[in-house]
Amino acid sequence: MQSLIEHARSFRRQCEDRAEFARLAEGQSPQVLFITCSDSRVVPALITGARPGELFELRTAGNIVPPYASGHPSGEVATIEYAVEVLGVTDIVVCGHSHCGAVGALVRQEDLDAVPAVRDWLVHATPRPEGTVEDPAVADAVRNHVLTQVLRLRSYPGIDRRLSEGAVRLHGWFYEVHTGTVLTHHADSDTFQAL
Ligand code: ZN
Repeated sequence: MQSLIEHARSFRRQCEDRAEFARLAEGQSPQVLFITCSDSRVVPALITGARPGELFELRTAGNIVPPYASGHPSGEVATIEYAVEVLGVTDIVVCGHSHCGAVGALVRQEDLDAVPAVRDWLVHATPRPEGTVEDPAVADAVRNHVLTQVLRLRSYPGIDRRLSEGAVRLHGWFYEVHTGTVLTHHADSDTFQAL
């Protein structure tokens, strides 16, 4: 922790007198909502090279997009709604990753009774993603899981309308934490291919 504190303490000096940071006070207009796992190995700005103000992020355990339900307050739904309705993002990326603990727990049907909040959250990810139980990277399962979340985004009322208008695009990504490779889903062939 101490090295992180030291960096945060000195960060201000890196930002001083830089117009890029001064402009951030005027507001944000990111074009992309980036939904990914809370996993510490996934660093969206590092992967994409995004600068401050370019990515609106939603991070959840297992990059799960919960079902849209009005009347049930949800930080995840609120974040997505704000990105779409207020910021007007044009692209939404759901980025799953290799060796995902959440997806692995689902595929292997691990006993999560010791972490009931995690257990109950993962239930949102049903149906359980299909994939090879023996694969430590759970690659197939994560890819299937990503597509399930993309499909769920389509059920959000604001997104469904914008999709039909061509105002928003959805992307399913798979990131390999051990190689840095990013694959994207191609709908025409229903395959994940390198970006
Ligand atoms: Zn994960």
